[in-house]
Amino acid sequence: MKAGAFEFEQFEGLEQTLNALAASGSARPLAGGQSLVPMLNLRLAPADLVVDLTHIAALREAKDLGASVLYGAMLRHADFEDGRVPDSSNGLMRHVAGRFAYRAVRNRGTIGGALALADPAADWLTTTVLLNATLHLASASGTRSVTAIDFVVGSYVTVLEEGELLTGIEIPRLSSSTKWGYYKVMRKTGEYADSLAMAVADPAAGMARVVLGAVDGAPLVLTRTAQAILANASASDLAATVRQELASTDRDFPAHKIILHSTAVCRAIDHLKRP
Ligand SMILES: Cc1cc2nc3c(=O)[nH]c(=O)nc-3n(C[C@H](O)[C@H](O)[C@H](O)COP(=O)(O)OP(=O)(O)OC[C@H]3O[C@@H](n4cnc5c(N)ncnc54)[C@H](O)[C@@H]3O)c2cc1C
Repeated sequence: MKAGAFEFEQFEGLEQTLNALAASGSARPLAGGQSLVPMLNLRLAPADLVVDLTHIAALREAKDLGASVLYGAMLRHADFEDGRVPDSSNGLMRHVAGRFAYRAVRNRGTIGGALALADPAADWLTTTVLLNATLHLASASGTRSVTAIDFVVGSYVTVLEEGELLTGIEIPRLSSSTKWGYYKVMRKTGEYADSLAMAVADPAAGMARVVLGAVDGAPLVLTRTAQAILANASASDLAATVRQELASTDRDFPAHKIILHSTAVCRAIDHLKRP
């Protein structure tokens, strides 16, 4: 199929872009087009105006703020994979970025587009929840900030309102002693995850966090599992805690999904132990 007719605008300024988005009834921002273009072609995303964000320099910058790094929404996955941006995550974001889709998609796809799309299996969604990111949003009527976990309402649904843009993703810097673990279950290299678990821990500072993605909705923050890490639970106790925590969520996982997800979580936690 071919896309329906729409107007196309491209600005260098954020303000002009926000005004154009506000003025139109059904306008869509275009990041790398990796999802939007197929959605337009399949007529799954009706639009009377598409506004390209490519030339807005402010959205392609990464700013080191000391205690955090502010990543522009138009930074591409390859910018992280190739280490062209400051690292706030002791290498986790670089590791994640190199392991999804394939290079052509990573050359065009953006962190902001991935978060705005909110595919439940998207790697950046789970990563930003794990890293306690704050997402900065802007519209013609002002700006606001939300935490990554509050940004996602469910599968493909976020708090973004009509005409509102995700402009930046601010990630607090991990302490140098924080370790991370990552485990993704997928049928073929580069595919979206069937299960996606990530963990960070700095036991000396009393910090551990575990997040599970690809769970048909917002990523799940596993607080009891994180406490078990800090309590130095044995591998079998940890596995039991993970299974119990998954079984007690409101997601109603079938038995095979509990096995799949708990395996991913335990392997991500195991990954914390590497030197
Ligand atoms: C073949 C293939 C395999 C993939 N595999 C994976 C994978 O394994 N893991 C993974 O995480 N991802 C995967 N992706 C997703 C991909 O990496 C992109 O992140 C995703 O397609 C979004 O693309 P984009 O950044 O080009 O945004 P676009 O396609 O341009 O936009 C996506 C949506 O977000 C909106 N939007 C874009 N930017 C903003 C913004 N700044 N503010 C508000 N709204 C905005 C658009 O209007 C549109 O609705 C895959 C994609 C493809 C095509």
